[in-house]
Amino acid sequence: MVLLFGPPGVGKGTQADLLSKRDKFIKFSTGDMLREEVASKSDLGNEIVDYLNHGALVPDNIISALASQFIEKHKADHILFDGFPRNLNQAQTLTKDLKRLLLSLKVAIEMHLDETEIIERLRNRRYCPQCNKIYNYVTNPPRQEQVCDICKTALVKRNDDDEKVIRKRLDVYEKETRPLVDYYKSHRIYERVEATDSQEEVFKKISHIINAHTD
Ligand code: AMP
Repeated sequence: MVLLFGPPGVGKGTQADLLSKRDKFIKFSTGDMLREEVASKSDLGNEIVDYLNHGALVPDNIISALASQFIEKHKADHILFDGFPRNLNQAQTLTKDLKRLLLSLKVAIEMHLDETEIIERLRNRRYCPQCNKIYNYVTNPPRQEQVCDICKTALVKRNDDDEKVIRKRLDVYEKETRPLVDYYKSHRIYERVEATDSQEEVFKKISHIINAHTD
């Protein structure tokens, strides 16, 4: 079990996709899951839509219930947690859930990027609402303008990739998520990766860390 965390726009989703494709990880991405609920207009989706649109965290009880179900179902697999946990309470619940199943996190990797670059990346980010593939008009454009390479669906900008909401999400990261650094340092499984390099370079660094912690 491996965990990727870091501020919005740092490239967690892209790296999580690469890891699940190349290293057989099963990805647990709360962001993708929550956006799908919102798009399907399910009861849960209607309950959480305002949190997502305003860049606030969805309540812990909803998130931890989704996580427990997922872990129970995939306990025999290598799970990659992407964007979860987002605060100390979620992290502590995750530790307990895993312990109950005699499992544990091998490493918690924080991806780091300067704020100016984060904002620039988020401005240029688009994603496919069908298969969730992430693009960036500057660093990773689709082959055909505004169309997903894989499923040919029209790409969209996330509602929360708007300048004001981006600031709020960065703020939430500092206040709520940053304390995970000390939490995982105290568990001796914290690692940090600079995310300035190309996707492939960052992928190599992350794979190296994961191999060192899982062998
Ligand atoms: P992400 O795709 O990871 O950037 O998440 C998008 C949004 O989904 C966040 O801004 C939150 O509103 C919500 N969200 C995702 N993961 C969590 C989580 N673990 N806890 C609470 N809210 C979350």
